[in-house]
Amino acid sequence: MAALDGLPPLRDVIQRHGLDARKALGQNFLLDLNLTQKVARTAGSLEGATVFEVGPGPGGLTRAILALGAKKVIAVERDTRCLPALAEISDHYPGRLEVIEGDALKTDFEAMASEGPVKIIANLPYNVGTQLLVNWILPKQWPPFWDSLTLMFQKEVGERIVATEDDDHYGRLGVLCGWRTSARMAFDIPPQAFTPPPKVTSTVVHLTPNENPAPCAVGNLEKVTHAAFGQRRKMLRQSLKPLGGETLLNKAEIDPSRRAETLSVEEFVRLANCL
Ligand code: SAM
Repeated sequence: MAALDGLPPLRDVIQRHGLDARKALGQNFLLDLNLTQKVARTAGSLEGATVFEVGPGPGGLTRAILALGAKKVIAVERDTRCLPALAEISDHYPGRLEVIEGDALKTDFEAMASEGPVKIIANLPYNVGTQLLVNWILPKQWPPFWDSLTLMFQKEVGERIVATEDDDHYGRLGVLCGWRTSARMAFDIPPQAFTPPPKVTSTVVHLTPNENPAPCAVGNLEKVTHAAFGQRRKMLRQSLKPLGGETLLNKAEIDPSRRAETLSVEEFVRLANCL
């Protein structure tokens, strides 16, 4: 892709700007521009779309998103060392890349959303990835401001996102994502594709909002999943005791001797609505 966008190879960019990776910022850079294009393509057509990216780093994924035709990319990066490298990309694509220096956890993405499709695409820093996903899944208003999320996680986190009942990875994250979204794992990326290589395999997860998730108070769903999976090997009559135990389960018509991992998303929603 260096030839495609005419910008220098990422290794040169990293060397020129002294962007040695910092573990505390979850910096594992993707330098293979074919791979970053594959990630960006997972989001579907980007023509006319506004894309939010978290943690552009030296800009490998950013370049792929721009080369694939996004109308505008708004990228939030915490590491100020990356800003000069990202400014070079902005110059190359005038008016199409806005870089915001700051913490994505404190960024109001919704306030920046504009007309047309909004897609979020990111190789997320491992230490804030799950929290960002939960923030995007649990706004009060639904449908949300975004049309799709295409996010890279450690594979184990990806498995928890797409898990359904009776799956070892099923838990709070699977229930929350299953309630409001359709989620799938698109493809894995091996450690050696990153610089420096992380310890584990990564995976790209693609999520789209369900149009009509069953009505349910977000706070109640969080409470029941937290209590139920907090003691996942125990029967629900025990794990849900602080929330009403058998009385609650009877009201929701769920057998109190069942365990959390056997309940479908619909059953969790029913429990939340009976709280
Ligand atoms: N997108 C680049 C790539 O694919 O090569 C870099 C991905 S790297 C896994 C994560 C990036 O997120 C780093 O550039 C890091 O500085 C940035 N980052 C870490 N914590 C952040 C936060 N709270 N808000 C915004 N960016 C953050």
